[in-house]
Amino acid sequence: MAYIKIDKEALYHNLQKSALKAGSIDKIAAVLKDNAYGHSIGIVAPLLKEFGISKAVVRDVKEAEKIRSLFDYILVLNGSHPDFICAVNSLQELEKTAAKRVEIKVDTGMHRNGIDADEVGKAFDMAAKRGLEVVGLFTHYRSADVLSSELFWQKKAFERVKKIACEIAPGYGFSPHFHSQNSAALFREGLEDDFARVGIALYGALEMDEVFGDSGLKPVLSLWAEKIATRGLKKGQRVGYGGEYEAKEDMVISTYDAGYADGVFRSLKRAETEDIIGRISMDNLCLKGDKRNVCIFKDARDVAKQCHTIAYEVLVKLPSHLKRVII
Ligand SMILES: *Cc1c(COP(=O)(O)O)cnc(C)c1O
Repeated sequence: MAYIKIDKEALYHNLQKSALKAGSIDKIAAVLKDNAYGHSIGIVAPLLKEFGISKAVVRDVKEAEKIRSLFDYILVLNGSHPDFICAVNSLQELEKTAAKRVEIKVDTGMHRNGIDADEVGKAFDMAAKRGLEVVGLFTHYRSADVLSSELFWQKKAFERVKKIACEIAPGYGFSPHFHSQNSAALFREGLEDDFARVGIALYGALEMDEVFGDSGLKPVLSLWAEKIATRGLKKGQRVGYGGEYEAKEDMVISTYDAGYADGVFRSLKRAETEDIIGRISMDNLCLKGDKRNVCIFKDARDVAKQCHTIAYEVLVKLPSHLKRVII
């Protein structure tokens, strides 16, 4: 079966780099949403715990339940449950959340989620009326990975929110923490708030404008496939759906057990060391030669470039049915 290798040494290297940027490992909230960006939350979470990470961010309550015993702090981005700290993305959500401890998402310019910067007072009022504790306020930057003035003005907006929140919080008995930075913002600027929410950097697939230099991170995940069959191909024979590939000479090819059902993008043209022959099928693909095991990719960023997308998409499309092994 196609399988995934998780490189523990690379993960710890990236954690070290991130901790250096943030000042200490306490200042990193590891983002484990969407099955730890396809790496497997069940594998990555214990490794982070072993390294000393105490904070985690997940997508939903189901993910939070999987890791509840491992971290002191778990933030659920979307969903609500009395046992977990849950992000509140609008005033309406604050009205009906089942959480007891909440973090208020503030919109500082991305206009995706979050309350208006001017509604912080109203949110505190509503939370206090419902007996909820506001443990934090946070925001998200829309363009931290590109060089422009975007990050600058969004940061200014969040500074204003922090100032207002600090002034009024004591009146409600709240002492909220603040966080705003994702991987790109942290690697670009160093830590600006109480901690950073670090995702893609931990997995070693951070992509930023070249001006910011090489972050020195190492890809954690690689995708591998095993041989199904080998055959000799005569000159002129065509391979796979549509017969797209034609042998220019007699050659040996093999099929491998990874296809687009395993998260290999159909538009991928080159695996780690070989060109892909013909179209990628649901459950297999063809390569020249007869190696027993082949690497499909070692760095999701290479795939992203070939397939006109981002490393995040390449990683999270890797299905949970693939076996993950730690190396
Ligand atoms: C996914 C996510 C992050 C992590 O972003 P990276 O670019 O992977 O570091 C941080 N904060 C929020 C709200 C997110 O949804």
